[in-house]
This record gives sequence, structure tokens and C-alpha cells, in this order.
Amino acid sequence: MRSVTRTYGSPPTVALSHADLDVDRGEMLAIVGPSGSGKSTLLNLMGTLDRPSSGEIRIDGHDTGAMNDAELSGLRAHTIGFVFQQYHLAEGVAALDNVATGLLYTGMPKAERRARAAVALERVGLAARARHRPNELSGGERQRVAIARAVVGEPALLLADEPTGALDTRSGETVVSILAELNDGGTTVVVITHDLQVAERMPRRIGIRDGVLSTGAAIPAGARS
Ligand code: ADP
Ligand code: MG
Repeated sequence: MRSVTRTYGSPPTVALSHADLDVDRGEMLAIVGPSGSGKSTLLNLMGTLDRPSSGEIRIDGHDTGAMNDAELSGLRAHTIGFVFQQYHLAEGVAALDNVATGLLYTGMPKAERRARAAVALERVGLAARARHRPNELSGGERQRVAIARAVVGEPALLLADEPTGALDTRSGETVVSILAELNDGGTTVVVITHDLQVAERMPRRIGIRDGVLSTGAAIPAGARS
């Protein structure tokens, strides 16, 4: 990202101001800041779900500002997986089929999508829950299903917006461990959080406050456990 600014409305509210950020292939990092600081705005821009008011965003060499919506949606489908705080699973649909929807864009036959979904569920430790529907799963298990759906297509980049925000500490730790394992396997992982314990487990942290990024010193020394 080069000098990326996002304003909303008129008169404009500046949600993100002149953000410069480089994320290398294979990195794992946390974006840490309080509520309303611009974290989701930043993540949505990184994920091409939104366009900047000004500035430049390049993903894997692609200048996203020069791409139309269809091109961006193709880039997203093949390159980026998303995980959100509220899981966004289809209710009444088995975990296996929720994960298989992550491959709809590929045009693969259903049997192959389900076979790959089973592998992805195994990666998040939920092979035994494949037939369970979301209402038969705990919050932590639902988030693991959502992670499996996000990575079933093996995206290079995984973007997670407050993935542990709705979870108890222990389930949150499991989710962070799964993200770390995916990163060990080569996936680039960006985690947005306002939870300092989650941020502490990341090898790199970027602070954000009032739409302004800051590198280093994102975690006050006194907040370390
Ligand atoms: P965070 O995810 O850190 O809580 P957001 O990125 O959601 O913060 O929001 C940053 C700022 O931008 C906030 O002041 C918020 O009210 C504002 N904002 C976010 N989305 C919109 C929108 N669609 N329209 C107007 N203002 C918005
Ligand atoms: Mg947010």
C-alpha cells in the first residue's frame, strides 16, 4: 500500500490516512488498534473488497486500481481468503458443505469440492464434525469451519478481521494456533485484532489509531503477559 487514504461521506470522515504498508509473501502479522481506529477499513482495502479514495494498492504485482470489478473478484477468488468475527456460515448446512462453497468459483464437480472440503476440515481438526450444522457447533468450532472455507482453495493470502473477537480465550488460542500452522505451510496471514494477547503471538505487529499506521511499539510493555 502506498499512501492509501479512505474517506467516507461528505464532509469527509478520514477512516484511513496515507497508509504505507508492505507485506511480504509468507509473513504473518497483526494489525492492532482500538475500535473505530480503521482496522476493518484497512483490511477491506487489502482484500480489494473496497477501493481507496487515493493511493495505490498492489497485490502480487497487480495494480488493483487499474482493475475492474470483475477482475478484482477473480483476483480475490484465487488469491485471498477471508475470515470474519461473525463466521458467516450458512445455517442449516453441514460443515462439509459450508467449506465446499469456498470452491464454487472453481467450477469443480461437487464430489471433488466435498473431497477437498473434507481435507480442509481435517486441517482445522474438525474431521469428526463434518456432518454437523453450525447450530450444533461451538463458536470456536464455527470459526474453524469458516477458516477451512477460507483456505480450501489454498489462497496465498489469508485476511482475518477480529477472528477471535467472539470467542472465549481457549477457543481463541486454538484459532490463533491454526492460523500459525497455515502460515507455517506458506500462507501469508494478516490478523486484525484489538486483543493484545492475540497480537503478542504474531511475529510482526502494526499499530493503528485514528486511521494512522505505526510500526513498532504497538504493544505497550506493561501489557505483555
Ligand atoms: P475498526 O474496524 O477499527 O473498528 P472501521 O474501519 O470499521 O474501524 O472504521 C473506521 C472509521 O470509519 C470509524 O470512524 C467508522 O465510523 C468510519 N466508517 C467505517 N465504515 C464507514 C462507512 N461505510 N460509512 C461511514 N463511515 C464509516
Ligand atoms: Mg472492525
